[in-house]
Amino acid sequence: MSDCLFCKIVRDEIPCRKVYEDDEVLAFHDINPVAPVHFMLIPKLHLDSLAEAEDAHVALLGRMLVLAPRLAKQQGLDNGFRTVINTGRGGGQEVFHLHIHVIGGGNIPPMVRRS
Ligand code: AMP
Ligand code: ZN
Repeated sequence: MSDCLFCKIVRDEIPCRKVYEDDEVLAFHDINPVAPVHFMLIPKLHLDSLAEAEDAHVALLGRMLVLAPRLAKQQGLDNGFRTVINTGRGGGQEVFHLHIHVIGGGNIPPMVRRS
């Protein structure tokens, strides 16, 4: 996906503050953090969103989920963290390359406010 923002980050065409990288996965700090620690885990393979995930992606997605707590700990989140995957316009997704937000530190409010 030549004009995808996160694919450009994967290809080093746009800089990022890298947290982790291997052959399949890249993690980098969010440019507009909502908490003291806020980074994203993305597959290097372009998938628009979680809605496009198929059986062929099970191992890749599993690796990303297992990496999340390890990287969170490395970033100093000893007391827990939040993971968020926004999917599609209805889920508030803005960048259409699948990503897992890892958010923590400070006071994390309840995810859904009930009135
Ligand atoms: P989402 O709303 O789940 O699609 O999240 C997209 C996230 O990407 C937002 O939290 C943005 O702050 C973040 N973002 C956008 N551009 C960049 C960039 N160049 N580097 C790092 N994070 C970015
Ligand atoms: Zn992409």
